[in-house]
Amino acid sequence: MKRVQSTCNFCAIDCNLDFCVEDGRIVRTIPTKGYPVNDGFSCIKGLSLSKQQTTVKPDALPRIRQADGTMKEVSWDEGFQYVADKIKELQARYGTESVAGISTGQLTLEEFAIFGHVMRNYLQTNVDGNTRLCMATAAVGHKQTFGYDAPGYTLKDLELSDTIIFIGANPVVAHPIVWGRVRANKVPGHKIIVIDPRKSETAMNADYWYGLKPRTDLVLMYTIANMLIEKDWIDHKFIEEHTNKFDEFAAFVKDFTLDRGAETTGLSGEQITELVNLIHNGKAVSFWWTMGVNQGYEAVRTAQSIINLALMTGNIGKPGTGGNSITGQCNAMGSRLFSNTTCLFAGGDFADEKERARIAELTGIDIDHVAKKPTIP
Ligand code: SF4
Repeated sequence: MKRVQSTCNFCAIDCNLDFCVEDGRIVRTIPTKGYPVNDGFSCIKGLSLSKQQTTVKPDALPRIRQADGTMKEVSWDEGFQYVADKIKELQARYGTESVAGISTGQLTLEEFAIFGHVMRNYLQTNVDGNTRLCMATAAVGHKQTFGYDAPGYTLKDLELSDTIIFIGANPVVAHPIVWGRVRANKVPGHKIIVIDPRKSETAMNADYWYGLKPRTDLVLMYTIANMLIEKDWIDHKFIEEHTNKFDEFAAFVKDFTLDRGAETTGLSGEQITELVNLIHNGKAVSFWWTMGVNQGYEAVRTAQSIINLALMTGNIGKPGTGGNSITGQCNAMGSRLFSNTTCLFAGGDFADEKERARIAELTGIDIDHVAKKPTIP
């Protein structure tokens, strides 16, 4: 029996599995021991990959539909040339942006890079990805907060945090490997906190559950921010050195009083105060959100308000901390990184002339072939 180590393509955790292959079929999958992400553990979906025995055999040659409706097999050279000619013809007739591309979260990083480069740079057209629906909130939240779309954490942070706060996230079911890391946390007295209208499986396994009303996360975050400021439980040095416009932010959240927070969220004043105390008492507080926020009400602002709590308390850039979005699909970050959704190309911003020059130099391509504007928002 042959054993082939490869990546599970079901979700963003990207576990490695040993695929046991016999007579050309996968007979068993075994979580790869020693692999840093999942180290000998996986969820039921990965273990069930052996049941997924669809064999996709692409045609050896491309086929082009003819005028009479029949399909004609052509060489790859002819196939590529046909597609290229058609795209150029459409652009010449209807304008550069008459052609657009769309991708999924399932491509490899290299495929995303080539796709982004050809569509955005070479053809100067627009692209989008499935992350528009799935992760656009996190992408925009990170971009607007940090200037760069990349959640700055590793799974190890879940083992090092003494106060783990899940917001709109249910890792017990949706990201079992993430939950495995929480269970591996050996920090004495660490707390697991869940903010979620539903008493989810994660809430049932947490130390604290705050079952707020739907659509009120943002008000809760602003209330917490205001209370932390009023109690002076903020990291002045970090704020001074690493943030800007904090005074404007403080003035903005001033109206989010405890009474207003309690009335809006349905939580009691005692519950919100308890949550603020937990954040203040934590030495390494980490905030984790996923689709409950990303696909929720006033989602981008909520994501930013979560990151702001991490920033104002200095819980960022240190082990076990961060304002961290958990992704869903196996390579949604690849889509986000290479321009498909966020207008970025390896971190650059097409709207910025200097960034375009930097990208041209880095990639060794003519600056005229670096996209001149972001993709359609
Ligand atoms: S956690 Fe995700 S990557 Fe890991 S086995 Fe399950 S579905 Fe696959």
